[in-house]
Amino acid sequence: MALLKISEPGKRQSAINTKPAVGIDLGTTNSLISSGYRGNIEVLADTSGQFLLPSVVRYGKGVRPIVGWMAKEAAIGDPQNTVSSIKRLLGRGTSEVENMPQFEQYTFDASRDEGAPAIITEAGVKDPIQVSADILSELLSRAHDYIGEDIEGAVITVPAYFNDAQRQQTKEAANLIGLPVLRLLNEPTAAAIAYGLDSKEEGNVIVYDLGGGTFDVSLLCLKKGVFEVLATGGDTALGGDDFDYILSNWIAKQVYSDENPILEERGRLIAYANSVKHHLSLHESADLEFNNWRGSLNRKEFLEMCEPLVKKTINTCRRVLRDASLSVEQIDNIVMVGGSTRMPIVRQALESYFGRAPLAAIDPDKVVAMGAGIQAEVLAGNKSDNDFLLLDVNPLSLGIETMGELVEKIIPRNTTIPVAKAQEFTTFKDGQTSMIIHVVQGERELVSDCRSLARFELGGIPKMVAGAAKIRVTFQVDADGLLSVVAQELSTLKMSEIQVKPSFGLDAKAIEEMLRSSHQNAELDMELRAIKEAQIEGRQLIDAINSAREIDGDLLDELGHNHLDNLMHELSENISNGTIEEIREATERLNRVSSDFAASRMDLHIGHALKGEAIDNIDR
Ligand code: AMP
Repeated sequence: MALLKISEPGKRQSAINTKPAVGIDLGTTNSLISSGYRGNIEVLADTSGQFLLPSVVRYGKGVRPIVGWMAKEAAIGDPQNTVSSIKRLLGRGTSEVENMPQFEQYTFDASRDEGAPAIITEAGVKDPIQVSADILSELLSRAHDYIGEDIEGAVITVPAYFNDAQRQQTKEAANLIGLPVLRLLNEPTAAAIAYGLDSKEEGNVIVYDLGGGTFDVSLLCLKKGVFEVLATGGDTALGGDDFDYILSNWIAKQVYSDENPILEERGRLIAYANSVKHHLSLHESADLEFNNWRGSLNRKEFLEMCEPLVKKTINTCRRVLRDASLSVEQIDNIVMVGGSTRMPIVRQALESYFGRAPLAAIDPDKVVAMGAGIQAEVLAGNKSDNDFLLLDVNPLSLGIETMGELVEKIIPRNTTIPVAKAQEFTTFKDGQTSMIIHVVQGERELVSDCRSLARFELGGIPKMVAGAAKIRVTFQVDADGLLSVVAQELSTLKMSEIQVKPSFGLDAKAIEEMLRSSHQNAELDMELRAIKEAQIEGRQLIDAINSAREIDGDLLDELGHNHLDNLMHELSENISNGTIEEIREATERLNRVSSDFAASRMDLHIGHALKGEAIDNIDR
């Protein structure tokens, strides 16, 4: 989603901010919280000085959930009641997750098959929203201790590829603990903000995020102050753990002349390999000692054994660039996120591929939380005039289908969000009691050339003549890009609504393609729209005359009826097969001839009204 910068008017920065806000990186493995309460953005530590909070929750009978390091340690002894990696379950259904190997230790509540996956624990059934809320609550208590007063709200980061349901459930988790969400922010955008890249005029940024178990690459484009995610890529099963695994196999081979040591040694070997890997991030070589074996390993040798992994990540970067039709020379900055980007072998590989050193000054574990914290300060109004507020823009127009399969745009493209706009519509047929609201996205004039987002029905419209009912359709896009559409009949106030995420499944390439086709077809679309409108007008006239004849047909003699029949037949023929001029002319002829009939009806009804009949009853 594109982001637009605007300055926040009239706000002065005070030494101590008045509205405490926090930034939260709610991660799969670890979570962090940051605050700008004391002037600079700081990532908050727990009482033992740890910034990372393992995203692990242990549920026990009759006790409060335990979140973080203690829960992580308990996971080995009590796997059924200790929930980790819950972020992977957000927005999914039970049947989808039951077969995911990393969740095989849990028992899911089968009665909730259609709903969110719920894990059966000693403390009852826990779904992903509840578990995420428990993690948020632990982070928040850290912020309360630091700030000492109530938190105004939070910016919470989510992966760029998160869909509507996943975003919605992240918000619900915050709602559950009464934490107002100022904004959900894409993780790569947060990292770019942490490096202040949003203050530049333009540029392309690669955000390379290599954690313990996952790898994500995002390509962001900053143009005239607008941030857009151009392409994303990654591997949900590639991370630092794989480096540990390869290194542990190598050590096993040296120690036992066998890559597959007895099972009890596996865990110890992996932990040892992990410490060697960390050592090699700081030193050129490491002296090794495991059981009675001694040896050494240098960075070059480590790179040789892990090269396939590093190459895999570079290939993903290549694919992301290709998807966005950009070359390496067009990349202005590379931002490092995730603990595994501390490995010099990773940084070197990136530098040699992109031809420039990646940005690595900020701790790669904290960078996303820092960006979220900066954004939270701005959204809470704690920043000066010189600071900018990042706002999303709506990349494609949003509208609804009207008669003749035409699109009526309600929120035009590039409108800054959040935004709400309303427009009134009416019924097409006499006595129409319901209407389908078909929400579409795109720049073209015909529904079939746009993207269909949702359909819902508004029923209970009181019976009236065509065109008399008033239906107000309100489109509201919130700061996270969620669209709610409400349709309301204004006399009864009956309403119906739906929520959709217009950006779901839509990448930058698709947006570009939709814009390109709208430019290419602009003229053709205008003609098509004009002919459709002429056809609708013609059809409406025929319908109106038919219903008037049903009521007051005796005002016409046989000749009059025949004359109208002929002209209506001629107009119908032209609506089906004629040119726009022929339709307009036939409509005009029918209009002229039927106007005498309309005048006689008017006289008759005015006469009735003068006799005391309510005008409202006339056209029933
Ligand atoms: P994250 O999921 O972002 O917290 O990343 C965790 C991964 O980063 C683990 O595989 C760690 O072993 C790895 N990691 C953290 N610090 C270092 C370091 N100094 N050198 C190499 N890998 C590291």
